[in-house]
Amino acid sequence: MSMTPYVGRFAPSPTGPLHPGSVLAALGSWLLARHAGGQWLVRVEDVDPPRTVPGAVAGQLATLAAFGLHSDGPVLHQSQRDAAYQAALAQLLDAGLAFACHCSRRDLADQGGIHHHCVPRPPRAQPAIRLRVAPGTVVGFNDGLRGPIRQDVHADVGDVVLRRADGYWAYQLAVVVDDGAQGITDIVRGADLLDSTPRQILLQQALGLPTPRYLHLPLLLDADGRKLSKSTAAAPVDAVNPLPALRQAWAALGQDPGALATVDEAGDALRAARAAFDPRRLSPVDIPLRPAAP
Ligand code: GLU
Repeated sequence: MSMTPYVGRFAPSPTGPLHPGSVLAALGSWLLARHAGGQWLVRVEDVDPPRTVPGAVAGQLATLAAFGLHSDGPVLHQSQRDAAYQAALAQLLDAGLAFACHCSRRDLADQGGIHHHCVPRPPRAQPAIRLRVAPGTVVGFNDGLRGPIRQDVHADVGDVVLRRADGYWAYQLAVVVDDGAQGITDIVRGADLLDSTPRQILLQQALGLPTPRYLHLPLLLDADGRKLSKSTAAAPVDAVNPLPALRQAWAALGQDPGALATVDEAGDALRAARAAFDPRRLSPVDIPLRPAAP
């Protein structure tokens, strides 16, 4: 067991029930945390009220419990974190690293939605707040599965929204503030968020927070080879009968299917998975989803 402290997390957005992609991220992050002798925390990312589905928070937590995946500490809810986000925003504004932006989406359409300069326009009642990203801001990190990744955040992303013009907190700010507050050392999540990591690192640096290690798991693909993400109508996993979804996620993590062949309940499946888990079998290649065997 490693002596390096390890705090991992699973941070679902309550936009619906957990689907196979969520279980992959939950199980993958849990296994890597256990393998390192570390902690695993659950965080509810209910930072975006228009996208939060009533009942989804309770449903997701109940499903995780049915799967035997329990947070090692209190479950943090982003909807209760206004004061922390406000303090981080004030810190960035005071340091001159963030600015009020009155541009609308339409104003930025010609630049592909990328903000580099504010366009002259009448002020809006409530501007967005953005992090300034200077030209030449290239951020690199070493992904645990994919090796070195680099992004020109200025060219590819532009100035990052921290608080939206509708007054809600941007995911990018909330996730960075909370990873810092929870002392997360290792972020294991789906590759759909790979593109967000460089701007999150930039924001950590601007706030004086440490940068965690990152590992982006492969995505599950539907029958047509399209990514099965939270935005598609992925079939929810069955909380009453967790084994098929656990076996499916275990196989998608490249692990030996035989290790879970004879278990008959979720707790035993997790114990067997923890004992048999071999991180060297993880692969960054996206995975066609095979239907979960009953
Ligand atoms: N809440 C995000 C999602 O459900 C995940 C955030 C993260 O893991 O950093 O996609």
